[in-house]
Amino acid sequence: MTQPSDGSASDDRVRALLLTQAEDKAVTARLRDDLTLADLPQGEVLVGVEASSLNYKDGLAVLGKPGVVRKYPMVPGIDLAGSVLESSDARFKPGDAVLLTGWGVGEGHWGGYASHARVKADWLTHRPAGMDAKKAMALGTAGLTAMLCVLALEAHGLTPGQGEVAVTGASGGVGSVAVALLAQAGYTVVASTGRTEEEAYLRQLGASEIIPRSLLSDMKRPLEKERFAAGIDSAGGSTLAGLLASTRRAGAVAACGLAQSAELQTTVLPFILRGVALLGVDSVMCPPELRERAWERLNREVPQALYTEGVREVPLAEVQAQAEKILAGQVRGRTVVIP
Ligand code: NDP
Repeated sequence: MTQPSDGSASDDRVRALLLTQAEDKAVTARLRDDLTLADLPQGEVLVGVEASSLNYKDGLAVLGKPGVVRKYPMVPGIDLAGSVLESSDARFKPGDAVLLTGWGVGEGHWGGYASHARVKADWLTHRPAGMDAKKAMALGTAGLTAMLCVLALEAHGLTPGQGEVAVTGASGGVGSVAVALLAQAGYTVVASTGRTEEEAYLRQLGASEIIPRSLLSDMKRPLEKERFAAGIDSAGGSTLAGLLASTRRAGAVAACGLAQSAELQTTVLPFILRGVALLGVDSVMCPPELRERAWERLNREVPQALYTEGVREVPLAEVQAQAEKILAGQVRGRTVVIP
């Protein structure tokens, strides 16, 4: 049973953004306040959701684009943070502060765009001390992914003294957190963006130089002048190809996204003539131990500038409008959704 926020007798109502699909495959999103806890899917832990977030993938789901939601009806929202209300798993007890990103939540299992979520205990992470639900969702999947990219590059041997690190899609969610994290750790960050009007923002996050998106995506040769010690790419397509071609000998690129394209047309020359490594990053099925390490480090290292300059809060009712914007590449940084 849950306590309504007005303090009256407890009830089982659940407020949620629910996606349904018609016979002609058209997807409709409706804000519902007539669902109950009995409508929630199976799981060991009931979470009172205090915040969720809007990622690129959520934008696709909410607007009914194919490839994300695997069954309907679905509550989207691939991230959520809140407090445990009920648990049949010994690892969690009522009152525990938790977060969840990925694991197919919001795709195949009802997600974070709701007042409550019932989920598997294996999917939950205890929030690091001092990280409230909104802060956790200011990072969300995008923040975890950016951290995993940094960890992958460092595991490859990257250190701050080695030279410039490029971040593509720098004004977006993954990009913003990546710029902030790298700069905070002492790296020289070159931010690649299609929105040069965001220069001041990116410099506040710690970027040393801003380059136009076209600089990388217009590169044509398989090997360009060696420039970057490493890169974090959330764009894919010709942007990733250009980044690989301009990465220095023995450098590495962490690839995590497809904001430009899922295609990658390139040659093996950066790999076999310069020993450049292409490191794939997946946050969705990332194992729990690595998640905990990443979240602890995010808690310690994300600078305040990201939260003050790169985050906005929206209610559930505004998610659809924000989804349009994120797919159009118009959202700066991160969007926290308050259910
Ligand atoms: P955002 O929309 O917040 O950021 C994407 C950014 O990419 C935009 O802000 C824009 O930045 C840039 N961009 C947009 N269109 C293009 C284009 N045509 N060419 C080049 N750059 C473009 O999304 P997220 O940060 O949430 O996600 C980024 C990508 O990473 C997505 O593809 C997402 O699916 C993927 N992702 C993957 C994860 C994983 O586990 N592997 C987890 C999280 C995200 P700017 O204007 O500054 O150029």
